Amino acid sequence: MVISNQSESVDPRPHVVIVGGGFAGLSAAKALRKASVRITLVDRRNHHLFQPLLYQVATAALSGQDIATPIREVFRRQKNTTVLMSEAQGIKPEEQKVILPHRDLTYDYLILAAGADNFYYGNDEWERHAPGLKTLGDAVEIRRRILMAYEAAEAEHDPERRKDYLTFVIIGGGPTGVEMAGAMAEIARKTLTRDFRTFDPSQSRIILLEGGPRLLPTYPEELSESGRKQLETMGVEVRVDAMVSQIDGDGAVVRGERIPSRTVIWAAGVTSSPLTEQLGTKLDKQGRVHVTSKLTVPEHEDIFVVGDLAVIEHGDDLVPALAQSAMQEGKHAALNAARAARGRPLEDFHYKDKGQMATIGRSRAVAVIGKSRLSGFVAWILWSLVHLFYLVGFRNRIAVMLGWIFAYVAFRRNARVLLGDGEPTPRAAVSPALRRRTLTGRRSGPGVGKDRAAGQ
Ligand SMILES: Cc1cc2nc3c(=O)[nH]c(=O)nc-3n(C[C@H](O)[C@H](O)[C@H](O)COP(=O)(O)OP(=O)(O)OC[C@H]3O[C@@H](n4cnc5c(N)ncnc54)[C@H](O)[C@@H]3O)c2cc1C
Repeated sequence: MVISNQSESVDPRPHVVIVGGGFAGLSAAKALRKASVRITLVDRRNHHLFQPLLYQVATAALSGQDIATPIREVFRRQKNTTVLMSEAQGIKPEEQKVILPHRDLTYDYLILAAGADNFYYGNDEWERHAPGLKTLGDAVEIRRRILMAYEAAEAEHDPERRKDYLTFVIIGGGPTGVEMAGAMAEIARKTLTRDFRTFDPSQSRIILLEGGPRLLPTYPEELSESGRKQLETMGVEVRVDAMVSQIDGDGAVVRGERIPSRTVIWAAGVTSSPLTEQLGTKLDKQGRVHVTSKLTVPEHEDIFVVGDLAVIEHGDDLVPALAQSAMQEGKHAALNAARAARGRPLEDFHYKDKGQMATIGRSRAVAVIGKSRLSGFVAWILWSLVHLFYLVGFRNRIAVMLGWIFAYVAFRRNARVLLGDGEPTPRAAVSPALRRRTLTGRRSGPGVGKDRAAGQ
């Protein structure tokens, strides 16, 4: 069904549809604030999510509200932009249409910025036992599992079963896994030390499993090594070359050895939004689009693909799947769409590498910025400043800063209250059709390249 509302039929300005209000989509829409175009920004959630701090929600340092901003609020003053909370279920490039559940949206230019999702290499059933960290719902569910494991341990009389509750396994030694492991070690050794009577939380085991030969595979080797040492100092058991072959309700199996655990967390693989499959173009193993130097799909000059969905060459390497690259690409695609709308030639995208960093607990981090390699406290200060700077929304910056000060000074975590009786958090609704394709694992095997979750 095509519903054409009045503003669409009378407004002569070219229509730019942006799918995804993440880092790339938000930058794209903002870059067009003064352009003579009509923008519709579609996202299945009502908020922009600052994913780099998701692990802090999962480990109870911040609450979900601190790292999310309603997309509608971001654009309340941008008159040329309409925000639609809806899920793009398909794209018909030949008809220039995006298919929403109750309506088709016709575009002149489409910017596809729908990001990635967790990927279990074809083992869809693992998701139930080992949630990944991609949405606020995921973070809240992981937080629930961690806190509930400690509660169950307090109530458990059998020492063996208690051990299982106090063993936490994180799969994937990329930045997300490293950040989770560091924060969980801190919870065990600092935050909870006085809270339980039948066991000592500092005896908890935090095990980080990495399928490849080293942690942080996209970082220089010396920083991988520094990251490993920093984690081990905090009491994390780091195992490399540790490919997981099974995950179930009783734990995980690694190279034939079962690790009994009630809390397994997945930080090991991502795959693209299945929308890319409908573009009729070449995709890589993760379903990402090989875009042109203008960020368009080779077969469709009116479709731009950006952020985690795009494969872009950068020297001998690829542009990494990071927030800063997504923002640069979103902005560039938007300006190219505006150029096209004015009949001007499109310009090539040039990536500016601003480095990458990962934090390891309370006051440690690793960072690569240009030729500089930093680790420890200085890297952590830099990490904190950069994250505060890029957080969307003044309220969020203040809330996050206060949360960090509280955690730093008092070794406490702000967000330990569970709603209800600790029942599971449902994963945010995604249309069954899209979700099925995401999880059936057409793209198998490791090699998540430069992604944050790289590892297992
Ligand atoms: C846990 C974690 C930690 C990270 N830490 C860092 C970090 O420290 N530094 C860094 O630079 N990068 C980090 N990243 C990577 C970074 O967040 C991503 O590279 C970046 O978010 C990609 O931006 P994007 O706009 O392509 O996708 P996203 O930010 O994922 O946005 C995609 C948007 O599209 C929406 N969407 C998806 N499908 C549909 C659909 N069918 N219809 C409508 N809407 C849809 C989603 O709701 C979402 O809002 C991290 C990622 C994760 C998961």
